[in-house]
Amino acid sequence: MSDVRPIAPGAVRWIARTLEEAGYETWAVGGAVRDALLGRPSVDWDLATRATPKQVRRTFRRTVPIGIDHGTVGVLSRDGVMYEVTTFRKDVETDGRHAVVEFADRIEDDLSRRDFTINAIAWHPLRDELFDPFGGVEDLTAAMLRTVGVAADRFREDYLRILRALRFAGRFDFEIHEGTWTALISLTDHLSTLSPERVREELTKVLSADPRPSHALSLYRDGGINRVLFPELDDQAEGVWEKAIRVVDSLPPGRPMLRLAALLRPAAPAAAAALLVRLRLSNADTDAVADLASAPGLPAHGSGAEDLRLWLSRHGPTVMRGVARLDLASARVADDDQAPQLVVQAWRAIRAELRTAPPLVVGDLTVDGRDLMRMGLKPGPVFKDVLSELLGWVLEDPARNQREGLLLRAQEVAERLLGDASSDASEGASAPRKNGP
Ligand code: ATP
Ligand code: MG
Repeated sequence: MSDVRPIAPGAVRWIARTLEEAGYETWAVGGAVRDALLGRPSVDWDLATRATPKQVRRTFRRTVPIGIDHGTVGVLSRDGVMYEVTTFRKDVETDGRHAVVEFADRIEDDLSRRDFTINAIAWHPLRDELFDPFGGVEDLTAAMLRTVGVAADRFREDYLRILRALRFAGRFDFEIHEGTWTALISLTDHLSTLSPERVREELTKVLSADPRPSHALSLYRDGGINRVLFPELDDQAEGVWEKAIRVVDSLPPGRPMLRLAALLRPAAPAAAAALLVRLRLSNADTDAVADLASAPGLPAHGSGAEDLRLWLSRHGPTVMRGVARLDLASARVADDDQAPQLVVQAWRAIRAELRTAPPLVVGDLTVDGRDLMRMGLKPGPVFKDVLSELLGWVLEDPARNQREGLLLRAQEVAERLLGDASSDASEGASAPRKNGP
């Protein structure tokens, strides 16, 4: 490990050289250095420099003020990629939710405010020199995750580091150093003070792990994170949870929301919805994940066409595709060798039914509200009842979706519903005229 040296993109060396030639010490830092030392592809190269944001902006032609307050300037390189260049910082004060930082003169200060030793290694792209005051390289070699400095202090400065610890340990299959682990589990109650947005970002990163989120998710359960942040998941029996995280593993890393649905599938729909709302996911993601997590599996292979249409009518083609993936992932981790094949057959059957383009929603019917008005019905709740009865009738047999037959049927249904209503002595909705359009 110690003889492995990072190889940085030309643009990183160009930025470092430009700043150094202007008199400002500059290092590559953070995740990219760590990943390069692990022999993994590094994206997102970050640079730390002694230059102030103002000085960085004066040194380069194309810059973007990304986070001037945090000292971060984006420098656009000729390859069109933007690199973040951040002025050396030191922590001056913290409240457990975010650190208050101040600019510093020395790379040592900058590294000492970083969370874990493996994230606190600096590499000089011009001198090809590592600066590693906290033994990060040794920890990388030993596959060990350890805080920089006293663990409990570092977690108290920013409780998000608890979640970051588990994410990194999971991602790299690292052991968590004993002192770090002890401090971490003693402080989990404070996780409830984190903003939902930061928790959501972390969970999304965990769920995007390639290939397996299950290690970090197991640590979430073992470390008591779920108890505090996701009690809905903590309620699940051990076996149910173990299976759910294996299902999550077998879904694609690029689909964190699908993986989240897999995790929530064993939870009751109301519990799943509560968790999603608390995380403040976008409305679209909340709805999509809740629909997926609460939908039943595809109708079993051998189900009749009407059952397939009823399922499609209730859940729609988008949920069908998501559920097929969830069912298949779940079948793959089942003990039963036949299970995946059965899901594939169920999937083929429902897809074949969908391809016949059957009417599935009220809007697909050959009659609509205007027809009901022409029949003399007053717009109101009864419209919806009539149309959904018609849909139910058509779902039994799509050939029934013919105007003539449906209009007659509509009249019968309306008379019955209004008859029921007037025998309930309810408000006087007008009865349909017999001589329809
Ligand atoms: P990833 O591959 O997930 O992006 P990363 O290590 O690059 O991993 P970032 O969140 O991008 O993580 O942060 C970049 C660097 O900033 C980290 O390597 C670490 O040195 C430092 N850092 C980030 N967040 C914190 C924090 N909450 N506390 C202390 N240091 C942090
Ligand atoms: Mg990063």
